[in-house]
Order: sequence, then C-alpha cells, then structure tokens
Amino acid sequence: MKRLSLLLAACAAVCCPALAHPGEFGLPEPDANSHAPVRDKVVLVQAGWLLAVPGAAPARERTIVVRNDRIERIDTGYTRPETITNADVSVLDLRNRYVLPGLMDMHVHLSMNSGGETAFRIRGVSDEIEGATAAQRNDVTQLIDSELNARKTLMAGYTTVRNVGSEGWHIVALREAIAAGKLEGPRILTSVATLYPGSDDGSGACSGVESCRRATRRQIDMGADLIKIYASCSGSRPCGRQDAPPTFLPDELKAIVDTAHSRQLRVAAHAHGEAAIRAALDAGVNSIEHGSFTPPDAIPLFKKTGAFLVPTLSVQDNIRKDIVTAKGSMLAVMQNFLAKHGPRMMAAYRAGVPIAAGSDAGIGVHGNNARELELYVKEGMPAADAIKAATVNGARLIGRDAELGTIEPGKIADIIAVGADPLADITALQHVTFVMKDGHVFRDDPAPAESPAK
Ligand SMILES: [Zn+2]
Repeated sequence: MKRLSLLLAACAAVCCPALAHPGEFGLPEPDANSHAPVRDKVVLVQAGWLLAVPGAAPARERTIVVRNDRIERIDTGYTRPETITNADVSVLDLRNRYVLPGLMDMHVHLSMNSGGETAFRIRGVSDEIEGATAAQRNDVTQLIDSELNARKTLMAGYTTVRNVGSEGWHIVALREAIAAGKLEGPRILTSVATLYPGSDDGSGACSGVESCRRATRRQIDMGADLIKIYASCSGSRPCGRQDAPPTFLPDELKAIVDTAHSRQLRVAAHAHGEAAIRAALDAGVNSIEHGSFTPPDAIPLFKKTGAFLVPTLSVQDNIRKDIVTAKGSMLAVMQNFLAKHGPRMMAAYRAGVPIAAGSDAGIGVHGNNARELELYVKEGMPAADAIKAATVNGARLIGRDAELGTIEPGKIADIIAVGADPLADITALQHVTFVMKDGHVFRDDPAPAESPAK
C-alpha cells in the first residue's frame, strides 16, 4: 500500500502540474480572510476568424466575451477592455488565428495505449501482498495512464470525450478530479465496463435478461454516464466479419437498453457485422460504434430511432499496418473491412444518418484524435460537416447540445484555435495552438510570425 501511495504522490508531482497551483484554473474562489465580493472574471477572446457554429458560415474579427465559465456574448470587431466594468478583465489575442468550439471525441479509451502497453508497470509486487489483486493494480496503473492520455487529448483541442470501456474505479475518479479542476483533461463521460455476453462474473459479462439488467445497473451504480455494449465481437477477430451473427440475443439487448433508458442513460453499441448493427438498432441503442459494414437496410432503422453512427475510421491506420503480416481468414476480414468501412459510412452520411466523430484513441494514438476528421474528408465529406461531426453532433449525441458544441451566448466556454483555415485544410485541426475549457486557458502557444488570416 505504501508503494501505491508513493506512486500516486509521484503522479501528483510530475504529471499533474495543476495540483501545485490549485487556483490557477479554478473558478474565482472566495478569500476566507476577505469580505470583498468575488468579482467576475471576464476574458475577451479576440478571434481573427470565428467558426462559432460549425456548419454555418465563419465570421471575421469577432470578440467572444467569456464571463467565468460561460460565453456571455459575441461582439462584432474587437471589444475594448475598458468597456467592461465590475469585473477582472483580460484580453486574449487570437487575431491571427482561426477560432472554433472545443472538439468532442465520442469514442476513446483513455486507459489503453496503442499496442496494449501501459506507460509503466508496478514491478516486484506479489499478487498476495496486502490483498492487492491484479485488478486493483491495474486500476492504479490505469489511473496514471489515463491521466497522461487525458492531458494529451485536451492539449489536442478535445474538450469533451466519451470513454467507452474501462474496468475499475480509475476512470470515474479521473472524471471527477478533472471536473473539480484538480487534474488537466477533457470533460469525460464514461461507460465504465463494457457489457458482453458471458457468464455473470461481475465485470461486465451477462447472460439472460435478469443478468443483463443487473450488469447494466452495476455500471450505473459505479457512476456510468452511458452504457457500452459489445453487440458484435471485436473487429480484430475473424468473428468481426461482415456476415458474423450478433453476440447478444434480442431479449438481452432489449433488457440492457430498457434498463439504461429507464435511468436516462444512453447506450453505445460496438458493432461491425451487418446483423449485429440491425439487432442493436432494433433494440433501440443510441449509437452504433464503428459500424464497419453498415448495410443499406440499417439506414431506415437509424432514421426511426435517431441513432448516431460513430465510425472510428482511424482504426484503418492500425489495420493497414497489421494487414502486412495477416494470414488466412483474418486477412480476408481485414481486406473486406478496408474496402467497405469508408464507403458504407459515406452512404449512411449521404442518407442523412447523423455522424458523430470518434477516433478509438487507445487503439490508435492519443492526442491525434483529429486524424479521424481528415479521414472523413478523404472519403468525400465536406470539411464543414467533418467539423460538425466533432462538435455539434457530439453534443447532440450526449444530450448536452444546450451547453456544448458551439460558441453561442449561454454556452460553456470551450474554445480552441488553430493557425490555418480548417475548412480549407482539415489537417489544420491536428495543430491546435489554443485551448480553453470551462473558461480556463490550458494552452496558448506563442503567435506565429505571420498572420495566416487573410
Ligand atoms: Zn473502441
């Protein structure tokens, strides 16, 4: 136990600079020794170019007036600080940058690293010592891994993520620590453990209606914001093929969805094969994750239920690497996946299925989440809609579009900036230079020598 607490202390000192300055990006805190009223903090964000509502036309030379954690209004031109009274006013000069809402990634695995490696391992600890099980040790190491990955994600301009699948308490603890302003990372919605069909062992496996209800409630009781299920098996196994049968029986799927919905939680279904996608939509899930082989006859089901498609095209980068050494049935599965995934996503998009961007970071690299949007554009999606998938549609998918996803009065101040026009070149979003979340600045790189805004 001593070792564990030392590790946590080391993390606090090394990877959590915020802990050294708790007030640095916290909301104004009342001074216990002072009776002076707490003054609002107003930040005037001068945007050379502003894409306030992705999908609508951008504007030039605007000032976003941020009061504490909220967007108060957007002014035409550059507002002078003297015009704001009774507040602590500061100015952020983004006059030569392209400003847009904080990005949202609907499918990440913060506790996982590409290739299955953790950042470090606890060495020399026996399984028996002080009752520390492998699961407990994993929970601790994954807390540190997920904090490091959360920070990378935020610095890449992603201010909100859905973490879809992490066993143990670490992800709930991380979500809370970030929400309290103690650690740096995106706003996290987590599903805790992913549900899959199997003997009822308490870790997410369930079998039969009662067992699946119980497993769903267990995730909710652990603090889940949504429920994630494996409606098909993993895409990296032969059973992830196009014509594979669904994993769950229809009554099990329905039991999970109804239980989650009864507690006002949404359900995200990992599904590759055609039958699994249809079965999950029939049961009423709110999003299909991956949807690699989304068949034409699933499109009316999406429309009927309002479900989103979260395509995770970024996993193709891994498949292109792995296919070199693949053999037999797995090679055929991978070839078919690469041939169909993009075109089937585009068919769904063109038919009006809402696309919410999800990168599967954790399977891929953390902090490179915007690569996903580059792949949408490569498949033929206009850049404006790719950006919409990572902002407006993400906010709708999690039911938070009243306060996230755009830069509009009353919304939470999640704002990022890049040095080049992402509508002209979507890869500009892979070089974020400014990040504000909840009205606090987490990144503001020195301005480039020349103004890119023309
Ligand atoms: Zn995933």
